[in-house]
Amino acid sequence: MLGLGIESTAHTFSCAIIEKKGKKGKILSDVKKIYQPPSGEGIHPREASRHHIDNSANVLSECLKEARSTVEDLDIVSYAAGPGLGPCLRVGAVVARSLASYYKIPIYPINHAIGHIELGKMLTGATNPLVLLVSGGHTMLLAFLNKQWRVFGETLDITLGQLLDQFGRSIGLASPCGKNIEQLASTSSNYISLPYSVQGNDVSFSGLLSATKFAATKNKTGACYSLQETAFAMISEAVERALSFTSKKELMIVGGVAANKRLSEMLQEVCKRQKCKFFVVPMRYAGDCGSQICWTGLLESQVKQSALLKNTFVTQSWRLDSVKIRY
Ligand code: AMP
Ligand code: MG
Repeated sequence: MLGLGIESTAHTFSCAIIEKKGKKGKILSDVKKIYQPPSGEGIHPREASRHHIDNSANVLSECLKEARSTVEDLDIVSYAAGPGLGPCLRVGAVVARSLASYYKIPIYPINHAIGHIELGKMLTGATNPLVLLVSGGHTMLLAFLNKQWRVFGETLDITLGQLLDQFGRSIGLASPCGKNIEQLASTSSNYISLPYSVQGNDVSFSGLLSATKFAATKNKTGACYSLQETAFAMISEAVERALSFTSKKELMIVGGVAANKRLSEMLQEVCKRQKCKFFVVPMRYAGDCGSQICWTGLLESQVKQSALLKNTFVTQSWRLDSVKIRY
């Protein structure tokens, strides 16, 4: 079975084609273009959606070419229906709907966050993990129970990705900033004391953001190092408590921030203590990509009819713990 997946929830417009044989998936192509705001600025939804409109035709044709496929070969088309930025989401939905209606291809609206998790499971082989989803849009600890992902902890304010990006922009980096902060942090070992806020199993990053911005006026690399150490220690504490509580024997991290080596190092220590296996999604597929949407669509198509075109909606705030998983 051959699927096309379209991702356009925020900064990334991406198309991917996956071939599914039995329970196995093979990524034949995954092409993306990322909207880059001017240095010091965040995502402007209208500008990002213009970027997606400008790039959608090229990304789609490159994706088909790389997979040596044509639109007529596709068995299904899936698109990210939320959560995300309305103007951006609508671009992916329109492309998917146009293909589905003109070529009569079954269409599947997919929850973007579930996409991160399912692709992570497919690529790492994790079977029943506690999931840490850390990205621009999410900071959540999740475990699967009775056909739904349940939240064991989340951010009370901004996400881990937003913390890194907002801090990065304040020191003049271009968004997304996580990779550059990781690089600057690796040049320092000067720990500056910063606010540490874990409440129950939830985390709060806004006080940490303000304090790190102030610390950076005196020592930029020390601030990057201390920000990572503090934020990742908070996440590690919540992960360790959730592992102990759920008795899960696997931990999997997914989402753009999963590309960070220091975060993996700290979580590996936690897993050693809790005698649990550690899985991290490969760096190339950590951030937003068409494959996450495509693979989840292929899984859904096993158990669900295609959506009617009139129901191919987008929902800006579609929580993953409201989705029933039947496959
Ligand atoms: P996503 O929303 O899943 O595409 O993830 C994007 C987020 O991942 C942004 O906030 C980036 O700053 C962050 N990110 C990407 N690479 C890294 C990295 N190496 N370390 C930390 N954060 C990263
Ligand atoms: Mg994402």
